[in-house]
Amino acid sequence: MSASLALPMLGAHAADTDVQTDVVIIGAGAAGLAAAHGLKAAGRKAIVLEARDRVGGRAFTDTSLGPAYDAGAMFIHWAERNPWVQIARDLGVATPDESWGGGFQVFSDGKPMADADRQKRRGAFGQIDRRLETVDLAKRDLSVKDLLGDLGPDLSQIASSGLLLSIGEESDRISTRDYQRLWAGDDLVVPSGYGNLVARYGAGLDIRLNQPVGEIRWDGPGVVVTTPSGSLRANACIVTVPVGVLKAGAIRFTPELPMRTRDALDGIGMGALTKIALKVEGDRFGITPGTSFLEAGSPHRMMNFDLFPEDKDLIVAYCGGDHARELSAAGPDATRDHLTTLLTSMIGSDIAKAITGISFPAWWTDPFSRGSYSVCLPGREAAREQLAEPIGGRIVIAGEATAGGGAMTVGGATLAGRAAAAALARIKA
Ligand SMILES: Cc1cc2nc3c(=O)[nH]c(=O)nc-3n(C[C@H](O)[C@H](O)[C@H](O)COP(=O)(O)OP(=O)(O)OC[C@H]3O[C@@H](n4cnc5c(N)ncnc54)[C@H](O)[C@@H]3O)c2cc1C
Repeated sequence: MSASLALPMLGAHAADTDVQTDVVIIGAGAAGLAAAHGLKAAGRKAIVLEARDRVGGRAFTDTSLGPAYDAGAMFIHWAERNPWVQIARDLGVATPDESWGGGFQVFSDGKPMADADRQKRRGAFGQIDRRLETVDLAKRDLSVKDLLGDLGPDLSQIASSGLLLSIGEESDRISTRDYQRLWAGDDLVVPSGYGNLVARYGAGLDIRLNQPVGEIRWDGPGVVVTTPSGSLRANACIVTVPVGVLKAGAIRFTPELPMRTRDALDGIGMGALTKIALKVEGDRFGITPGTSFLEAGSPHRMMNFDLFPEDKDLIVAYCGGDHARELSAAGPDATRDHLTTLLTSMIGSDIAKAITGISFPAWWTDPFSRGSYSVCLPGREAAREQLAEPIGGRIVIAGEATAGGGAMTVGGATLAGRAAAAALARIKA
């Protein structure tokens, strides 16, 4: 058997057949990297197998259009307790407070929204927090849609639409209990790219790229993990692939996962928060860089545009829920036409000529993410803890989905990865 330390790091080479290590980690996103650091600090050998040709997972700074933007995670949420504040400091990366330079304008079908309608919107948004203060969830959970039920369909739709851009999901598929426990706090930004920062955190770890894991056998002692280029034996395994990937059955477990784990997966869905970048050259159309436009005429199809952030030649559009799923299925050309039509009605027809490119990392259809981040279904908020329960004393599922109040975030994924490494240390795998 070849020793893992003899293999190069961060290479795009094959996984050697019968390589032996203490722990194999599947996925080189924030959770996988944190788990690998935790094991390394504990003196254990760990190899990270990553399907893509890059490190960082859903934290990804995209430069395909020239100027960089974060196509996945962008904010260091709840900075007061987020481990990335310290990691960034250790790596000498600046993390200032978020600041919105250019202001915010709301549109309805291409026209500035009337003041009365804006006030109605603001009132509707406030209803979620107001109801959370008074609702009794002790006996039973509710969907957020049911929480807002007696507002009436019109206001309820408006109140729910904000969740499309935060949770990325329709309100009837969100557990109110889970939503209520999500951590809040200050947001910081990473001007040099959150994705770049996460990728840098991978330095010095034994990461094998282009290694999509297709099977995990745990019918004998330890585990055998297989990719198209070979197998790897280990005493234990930490699985950090997104819940959407596990639910899609992309990794076969032999024997299959225990009923409790499968039941936990049934209780968690994936939202579809999506960012689409357009390259816009030559003109700023009189718009202050850093301005945001929200097209909110149709609550279900709400679209936010960040215009020329940090004076870059970019417009970054955001949407979520079923509308984002439709656009992901339609593909980049149809999406570019749709966004151009929306921008033309808000800015004028000259914008169409200035749009010279699109970058559309469609997380919903991407086989290595299958969505933006995990969302507990109504009544299923305990599924996160259930999913994190060690399996057979040698497999631990980690990642943002298992992060409790830190779920859906890079910080939560990191804490979950650290916890998984500690759990394996406890069971001495
Ligand atoms: C549009 C968008 C905006 C977001 N905004 C924020 C934000 O502002 N702040 C924030 O904190 N979070 C944000 N998030 C969420 C955040 O990106 C994730 O919660 C976090 O990155 C998840 O880390 P993870 O390690 O759990 O999973 P991932 O980062 O998804 O890592 C899992 C890894 O597993 C790999 N993988 C998948 N299948 C296989 C396989 N079969 N074999 C081997 N490897 C495999 C994947 O390629 C990936 O690298 C956002 C996400 C999206 C999509």
